[in-house]
Amino acid sequence: MSKLLLLGCIADDFTGATDLANNLVRSGMRVMQTMGVPTEPLPADANVDAVVVALKSRTLPPSEAVVQSLAALEWLQAQSPDPHGLQIYFKYCSTFDSVFTPAVQGNIGAVADALMEALGTDFTIATPAFPDNGRTVFKGHLFVGDVLLSESGMQNHPLTPMTDSNLVRVLQAQTQKKVGLIDYKTVAAGDEAITAQIQRLRQQGVRMAVVDALSNQDLMRLGKALKGLPLVTAGSGVAIGLPQNFGIASSNTSSQLPVPRGLQAIVSGSCSLASNAQVAHGIASGLPALAIDPLAIVEKQTAGVDVVAEALTWAKTNFEKLAGGQAASPILIYATADAASVKAVQAKLGVALAGEMVEQTLSRIAVGLVELGVRQLVVAGGETSGACVQALGLTQMQIGPQIDPGVPWCYVPSPMGLHLALKSGNFGTEDFFSKAFEVLK
Ligand code: ADP
Repeated sequence: MSKLLLLGCIADDFTGATDLANNLVRSGMRVMQTMGVPTEPLPADANVDAVVVALKSRTLPPSEAVVQSLAALEWLQAQSPDPHGLQIYFKYCSTFDSVFTPAVQGNIGAVADALMEALGTDFTIATPAFPDNGRTVFKGHLFVGDVLLSESGMQNHPLTPMTDSNLVRVLQAQTQKKVGLIDYKTVAAGDEAITAQIQRLRQQGVRMAVVDALSNQDLMRLGKALKGLPLVTAGSGVAIGLPQNFGIASSNTSSQLPVPRGLQAIVSGSCSLASNAQVAHGIASGLPALAIDPLAIVEKQTAGVDVVAEALTWAKTNFEKLAGGQAASPILIYATADAASVKAVQAKLGVALAGEMVEQTLSRIAVGLVELGVRQLVVAGGETSGACVQALGLTQMQIGPQIDPGVPWCYVPSPMGLHLALKSGNFGTEDFFSKAFEVLK
């Protein structure tokens, strides 16, 4: 049992978990991330301030997301000598998206509800604000860079489209509890003003409040006001304001990883605007690149041809070619495509089947790449990363240096000693792939 555990985190997808862990590490906390709810307790000698349990619950129906989240909560509490004193952080995407079908408007509200009940608390906050990554909340509306969420490309997301930027409305559609707002003026006025507003909202029967935040200063002020709140629900941004409550200050010694070795590869299954630009940039800068076309997967399957085996043969040939070159260079395998191509594929195969098939194919390719000797791997796409991590059988990892906001390198000690970067679709600059391997050098 860890004597030091201060913060127990539950993240609804793998890249989101890493993004949160990254912010906590940068703010000075020592962080371990687990893949799924561990079956074992934390090692007795684990010297960590925070543990992030990474689920793959973002696209699950609310009832299933709740079951997983409660299991994570129970495990986290069991790791703390003072389960009731342990602050819990439910982390979702900085674009506030989750499962979306004609019948279900998202699962964030249901998970927050269930965690509140389990923790016996009558109030929590909700904010995906992450100004370092261009996610700001103003008057309850989420902006991605300079545009509203609903105009950011997220309206075309293959699995979890977001067509409304008003988060109070979005969250209210997901919970019976009353949703309110702590606006930017209150946040700018400081932690005491925020605490007073929380009290007022509580008296008005509000049980969850969306919080405006435009800057890191806002997040630091908000962080102070959240001291002792049993449950925080947020994107990863709020994490920068919490370590101060435990007397922990920013440092970069908590992010050192072992020296990298082995071959380099990138696997991309994200269809976000950012990933499309990154893949295009990678190809233009001369990376050996192989496109995986979902329709071709089906056609080839019917003809008895295994796309994965084909891709790995291609990879092997290119690794051999690259071995003759001067500098180490990654190869790129991608299903990344623009919105129109994704729509066309989904029309033929159905949304769920297309997504699943591509995830399965890419994750089998990732396993094959590691078998070929890849020890430095970048995966683009939240769901894609989750699928790859599961297929590779990874259970825990140490969080290292940041490549771009929200995306650190990680190190998986066992079974193979792998440096891994899991990039959420919308994250990273256009030259993210080349930058990633530079950071690792
Ligand atoms: P992001 O982080 O950008 O949301 P994800 O990996 O979470 O990326 O989601 C992208 C989804 O789109 C995955 O389910 C993936 O399998 C699917 N996908 C990837 N490429 C294609 C494609 N060419 N056509 C249809 N679906 C695709």
